[in-house]
Amino acid sequence: MITAADSPLQNRSGPAVTEPGPRDHDARPGTRGEPPPASRVAVPLAGTGHGLAEVAAAVTRAACGALVTRHPRGPLPAGDPDAVLSDVTDTLGPRALPEHGLGTDAALHRVARVLVEHGIELGHPWAAAHLQPAPLAVAVAADTLASAGNASLDTYDSAASAIAVERWVIGVLAGLAGLGDAAEGVFTPGGSLSNLMALLLAREHAAVRRGVDVRRNGVAGLPNPVVLCSSVAHFSVHRACATLGLGEAAVRPVPVDQRWRMRPEALAAALAGLDGGHTPVAVVATAGTTDFGSVDPLPEIAEVAREHGTWLHVDAAYGFGALLSPRLAGRLAGLALADSVTVDLHKLGWQPASASALLVRDAAAFAALDRSVAYLNPADDAAAGYDGLLGRSLQTTRRPDAVKVAATLLAYGRRGLGQMVEHCHDLARHAERWIAAAPRLELVAPAELTTVVFRYRTADPALADEVNAALRRRLLRSGQALVGRTAVRPAGPGSAERTCLKLTLLNPNTTPRDLDDLLAAVVDAGVATEAATKGAA
Ligand SMILES: *Cc1c(COP(=O)(O)O)cnc(C)c1O
Repeated sequence: MITAADSPLQNRSGPAVTEPGPRDHDARPGTRGEPPPASRVAVPLAGTGHGLAEVAAAVTRAACGALVTRHPRGPLPAGDPDAVLSDVTDTLGPRALPEHGLGTDAALHRVARVLVEHGIELGHPWAAAHLQPAPLAVAVAADTLASAGNASLDTYDSAASAIAVERWVIGVLAGLAGLGDAAEGVFTPGGSLSNLMALLLAREHAAVRRGVDVRRNGVAGLPNPVVLCSSVAHFSVHRACATLGLGEAAVRPVPVDQRWRMRPEALAAALAGLDGGHTPVAVVATAGTTDFGSVDPLPEIAEVAREHGTWLHVDAAYGFGALLSPRLAGRLAGLALADSVTVDLHKLGWQPASASALLVRDAAAFAALDRSVAYLNPADDAAAGYDGLLGRSLQTTRRPDAVKVAATLLAYGRRGLGQMVEHCHDLARHAERWIAAAPRLELVAPAELTTVVFRYRTADPALADEVNAALRRRLLRSGQALVGRTAVRPAGPGSAERTCLKLTLLNPNTTPRDLDDLLAAVVDAGVATEAATKGAA
């Protein structure tokens, strides 16, 4: 056990380092102005059995201290962002490396206070802004173990077991997606990066068809690259195109239907309109759009992509979680036809960020990322089985994010996780009904997965955008409620974007009653904001 008087540098058996102890500066004034004596101390490290016990104890003490200061009013700290940020800076002290350390407990206590007193509380039932769940305790505990071990997945000798854990989790996810026996995958730092890697593999696929070596010679040999996705696809598709040298102009937005799903006939027309002067790189379908949870019609889209021999990527960052529920899994029918799939388990999967994976139907696609590096994966080591996952990733050092996922899958099973997904879907349906029945609110998009998009109805329609934006900030400032916003362009030519509110419901402990109260608070904030806006006008 470390004691309350612990310091990061303590006397322990084990390798000794010579450094001044952090409390040496507290020592009584030295005789004859000599510097304080250096002590020979061992640094507590996490990756040993003993170190883990210290981690657990330190977290326990910091958490208990911080709980005392938690803000009970709502999911956010009350006050303006400026005030919050300056409070935090005051707590951390001057922006310079302190000469002397505080010791483990004091440092953790400070950080915990900052996070709890001035941070967000995602487990609060009125935290409903983003695809950002309160993570499961088992996942955070497993992530702590993974951090303590600090394995890196690039080579066998920097990971050993963690490689098998990732492969196991990838196998489970690919199985849920129905991608077949040749499927493989890799964890990435987020859905945006999974999409980037998918498009990198797709670019390689398109280049090989043209006989172009993109890795060596760049993208000049790929004239007029085209990536087709719906008009409400995630912006990371555009960013990926820019990053990969295809340019954002490569993205051709395909129109959506009234439920924000890509129209397959429009996709077919767009692909048919391309000639030999174009390079079709990929069709990107979305299974669970970020705002609406809408799922593009995957079987029809897959058929169009196959007719044209174009890579089909399905961005299921959000929607993949529906596969955990027998009731909702059917919404992702056709996913098995994808060449690659993005999965974010830090959304509908209750993992701490990040826990994203790129799955591919054919492991051979990873050839685009092959790399042999003398100090990491020489061929003879690899042939002898001492190989890691360097050749599947753009990263070298790579966190074992799959560990927390493995623990979660084992702890809850499909049944447990599926019930959580269903509960959140039910909450969204409940909110949808409440909104539809509320005279001051207007439903903008129905609950496909676990989000609902709506609007506060102002007496004067000209004030609607301004009031909806301002009422959300009013709630943020009060710290009372965390609701999302977005802009929606209604169907029809020439229509203007409208500012809307959004509930993203990922809390399996939230009750319908909590939502009733939250929506009532939104209406109250709307009434107050509208009155203030009119008064100011
Ligand atoms: C969240 C999201 C992404 C981006 O994922 P990050 O993990 O935030 O990088 C991509 N696509 C969709 C559909 C998403 O909802």
